[in-house]
Amino acid sequence: MLKEKMLKKTGCPSIQELIQTPGFPRKKDYMKGPIAFIECIEEIPCNPCESACPKGAITVGSPITNLPVLHADKCAGCGLCIAVCPGLAIYVKDYTYSDDEAVISFPYEYYPLPEEGQEVIMVNRMGEQVCRGTVIKVNNSKRNNKTPIISAVFDKRHFDEVVSIKRIT
Ligand code: SF4
Ligand code: SF4
Repeated sequence: MLKEKMLKKTGCPSIQELIQTPGFPRKKDYMKGPIAFIECIEEIPCNPCESACPKGAITVGSPITNLPVLHADKCAGCGLCIAVCPGLAIYVKDYTYSDDEAVISFPYEYYPLPEEGQEVIMVNRMGEQVCRGTVIKVNNSKRNNKTPIISAVFDKRHFDEVVSIKRIT
């Protein structure tokens, strides 16, 4: 079982392990522009990501316990799948934001929310500090149903590691 294999090590999956999952884009895909990264490794009955995508870029299919498949060629990086995921397992990253910087948009269900322009600490899957970043957007619209989406810019040398920000206190 994929999940069991991953959890044996550190409690969270490595990049090498995530690349083996069907929801994780390859480098050739994220080098083209913003794209969804689906870190969904639980074979649970769940599929709102599939119906939320207007591009048909995510497939769960039948049985509903299938891991979600990302069709990278169809993903426009719009982020509409982020807030619908109950597992907070989806984020969108843009490697092409600038020569030196990348952007990540991710779900953030803590208060207080960061503010646009605020300096933040970018963290990895273990919650460990990776680098500094700056919040460029806070999307707390009704459509997100109380799952705000934060977008932050950071040094693209840390593209693989960064998945969120350190909680604001
Ligand atoms: S980012 Fe947009 S286009 Fe890409 S999978 Fe999510 S909803 Fe679909
Ligand atoms: S909505 Fe989230 S938890 Fe559910 S299948 Fe999709 S990625 Fe996995």
